[in-house]
Amino acid sequence: MPIVGVLALQGAFHAHARALKQLNVEVREVRLPHDLDGLDGIVMPGGESTTMSQLLLSSGVFDVLTQRIADGLLTMGTCAGLILLAERVLDARPDQVSCSVLDVTVRRNGYGRQINSFETDIAVTGLETPFTAVFIRAPIIEEVGSGVEILAVHNGVPVAVASQNILAASFHPELTSDVRFHELFLHMISSASTVR
Ligand code: GLN
Repeated sequence: MPIVGVLALQGAFHAHARALKQLNVEVREVRLPHDLDGLDGIVMPGGESTTMSQLLLSSGVFDVLTQRIADGLLTMGTCAGLILLAERVLDARPDQVSCSVLDVTVRRNGYGRQINSFETDIAVTGLETPFTAVFIRAPIIEEVGSGVEILAVHNGVPVAVASQNILAASFHPELTSDVRFHELFLHMISSASTVR
């Protein structure tokens, strides 16, 4: 059974843990650097990327996590989690850090404020039928590097992307009962362990 960490400093981590447990994964909440030891994958949830950035630094998790992801740890980032993975973040607070491991440019709150939150059904590469995507003060993906695959698009804008060891979405796949997006992440974990 793979062990998947869920960054549990702030934000929607409980919902991610619930989805993963439904898929028979051992889930570990990550709050301290040693919680990262021996993980097969990690989820960076939605929430508030400014707050998460501060807590990542004060907990000492930031440097170790960044190194592990750069070394190939399978990682799923959603909404604020995507912001924390992006190489380029626009409209960020000046003191906000990012692991800078995913070749995309994102703009914080690019879809507007809380009242502009919405949900919509989108086609996702790898899923046979549409997936209901929930957007809450979501970042907009403004640029995607050449090594990054676009898995889903909404109104002409990428909303789910993947690179070698990273799966990321500007929406919240953990906020519906549909666990297929998490399943895609688990497929990445199992194919990586087969290659190893
Ligand atoms: N707007 C939040 C941020 O910039 C992200 C919102 C979310 O994760 N739902 O961190």
